[in-house]
Amino acid sequence: MLWDIDQTLITIGGLSRRIYERAFLQVTAQPLRELADMSGRTERAILRETLVLHGLRVDDDGLQVYFDAIADAAEHLRAEIKQAGYALPGAVEAIRALTAAGIAQSVVTGNLKRVSITKLSAFGLAEGIDFEIGGYGDESEDRALLVKQAMRRASHSCGHDVSGDRVVVIGDTVHDIRAARDTGVRSVGVASGRTAAADLADAGATVVLADLTDTTALVDAVLMRKPVRPHQSA
Ligand SMILES: [Mg+2]
Repeated sequence: MLWDIDQTLITIGGLSRRIYERAFLQVTAQPLRELADMSGRTERAILRETLVLHGLRVDDDGLQVYFDAIADAAEHLRAEIKQAGYALPGAVEAIRALTAAGIAQSVVTGNLKRVSITKLSAFGLAEGIDFEIGGYGDESEDRALLVKQAMRRASHSCGHDVSGDRVVVIGDTVHDIRAARDTGVRSVGVASGRTAAADLADAGATVVLADLTDTTALVDAVLMRKPVRPHQSA
């Protein structure tokens, strides 16, 4: 199970911009004037576009100093993140229920690894997540490659092939769903962000949920169990 983080498990409101402002000022000694669209995109893509918006040219190696500054800024703002943000309804229960069902869980996220740990631990969501088998936002601008990276790490960690129907990506944007589709794995779309359920379905989501509050529906979807409804006859 590969979780997206922002708007799927948590929301941190305006703190995403604050993190960027702090990191950008630290590295460039100039204030952040514009910030690229962040929704569903990887840190590498957001950073590259933001630098272009400021007329700054940085090669691949030059990005690392920004990544480090972003991770430092998130840690610095941890108390504010905790205060302004929250775990979305059902997130804690969902991770717990999937752990109880024996499902290995990690993240495929636009966030950096350090930022992922900072964010999820701030809301008590880090337990049950194996951060070593995830895919992270500094690794590519293409989310599908992050899914592949996570599958490689999971296969190596488990000692058997982890791909296809055995893998589920869960996220709130069409970027999450397309990354799953392009990698040949299943996906759960959660309409807890700015993307409507119908758009997640159109993008190819295997299952679409309004939010994470129906733990049983989520676990059934992940385990490919048909939901049992009281009115159904045998
Ligand atoms: Mg998201």
